[in-house]
Amino acid sequence: MVVTRFSVPISTDWRNMVSYFRETFSRACLADASEGAAPFLAALDEVIDSVVEPAAAQVDRDAAHPGDALDALSAIGATGVQIPREFGGLGHDNGVAALVVERTARACASTAAILMFHYQVVNRTLTYAHPARRDADLVAFANGALAASAWTEPNAGRDKTDLRTRLHDDGNGPEVDGVKTFCTGLRSATVIDVLLAADLPDGTGPTFVRVDTKAGVEIDEIYPMLGLRGTATGTVRLRAAPVTATDVLGGLGSAKQLMAANHLNALNPGLLALGIASGAADAALRAAGDTTRTVLAETVLPLEAAYSYAAELVRAMTADPDRALGHSGRFKAHATTVARQVTQQLLPAMGSRGFLATFPFERHLRDAQATALMGPINQLCLNRVADDLLPGDRHPT
Ligand SMILES: Cc1cc2nc3c(=O)[nH]c(=O)nc-3n(C[C@H](O)[C@H](O)[C@H](O)COP(=O)(O)OP(=O)(O)OC[C@H]3O[C@@H](n4cnc5c(N)ncnc54)[C@H](O)[C@@H]3O)c2cc1C
Repeated sequence: MVVTRFSVPISTDWRNMVSYFRETFSRACLADASEGAAPFLAALDEVIDSVVEPAAAQVDRDAAHPGDALDALSAIGATGVQIPREFGGLGHDNGVAALVVERTARACASTAAILMFHYQVVNRTLTYAHPARRDADLVAFANGALAASAWTEPNAGRDKTDLRTRLHDDGNGPEVDGVKTFCTGLRSATVIDVLLAADLPDGTGPTFVRVDTKAGVEIDEIYPMLGLRGTATGTVRLRAAPVTATDVLGGLGSAKQLMAANHLNALNPGLLALGIASGAADAALRAAGDTTRTVLAETVLPLEAAYSYAAELVRAMTADPDRALGHSGRFKAHATTVARQVTQQLLPAMGSRGFLATFPFERHLRDAQATALMGPINQLCLNRVADDLLPGDRHPT
């Protein structure tokens, strides 16, 4: 039997200071929040404590679908956070959605990652979907349906110029054929926004198409992964998946604009990173003993700074939308770097216990690795920051 020290009461002020900087971040995210955000976040915390957190270790161990967690989150309206009330949503903004991802990630990063991609699709649907599709999708999302996003495919190139997945019409109406890799949320997605090449009068152009998973969509493989093991990330095969003109998002050939728009807010893996590092720090602070005090303090400082920096970047994204791409790049690159560093330092700080799979430290460490790799990959984020610092010398992507 493994004896835990998690019941030891917190005996330092450090935890309160982490909470203080988390509050700073929350306040920045809630700057434009509508009425009702506070009771919703209280209900969220309750669901996280009672359902999401208790399931997290098993979801990770068995690479299982976090179905109970997602159902409980859906029951309080979390799948419709940014959806206007007229469609059955909660009518909040991306700031509240960002907090849902960050808070959920403290307990279960896999559940949070599924929600993060869902929120990106909701945003795209609100802005770019054809009205004939948009309204019904928003109602379904508000009622618990989940969406996924498939940009990645083998050999597509860093700027996604060589896409093999195609939208075509060979006499049976428009259809999608191709293979997308690293698509998160495959066990729960009812809709996937697929990045593909569409026929244009003068060649092909990168385009997003909304594909219903009921027809022509097969899960080829769910990857055994180092971290985020409950996300059902894998390969999806599209075989003559039927679509209509109303499934095209934002017009044929408009994907570059939609990809850029996806990076103008904080809904990126930086949120997962903050939550993962925060969950690790909370666990470490609960288990702290005399020998670990200073190493914990040293580890927690960058986390406090990351929350504080993230708060400023969230404010800056709203205040200066023209530079939001650089700010979201800063947020993603910084938060994910800190999460990898914090989780790596905390594991040995716990002594041999940190190495045990029965403690959460090694799970947080593995989950943190994924956040740096997930798009936009950190190197791309740093290129955007460099563009912002050196405006005359822009990177081609
Ligand atoms: C857990 C997980 C979940 C994911 N979920 C999804 C999902 O739901 N949907 C989806 O579409 N994708 C998803 N992805 C894929 C992810 O978006 C890609 O892995 C990411 O965009 C990087 O692409 P790549 O793997 O092709 O690497 P590449 O972009 O080919 O990068 C390879 C190397 O080149 C470097 N590099 C890349 N770009 C530049 C640049 N501009 N300048 C200099 N160096 C560069 C990188 O640092 C890296 O070392 C997921 C990935 C992970 C790990």
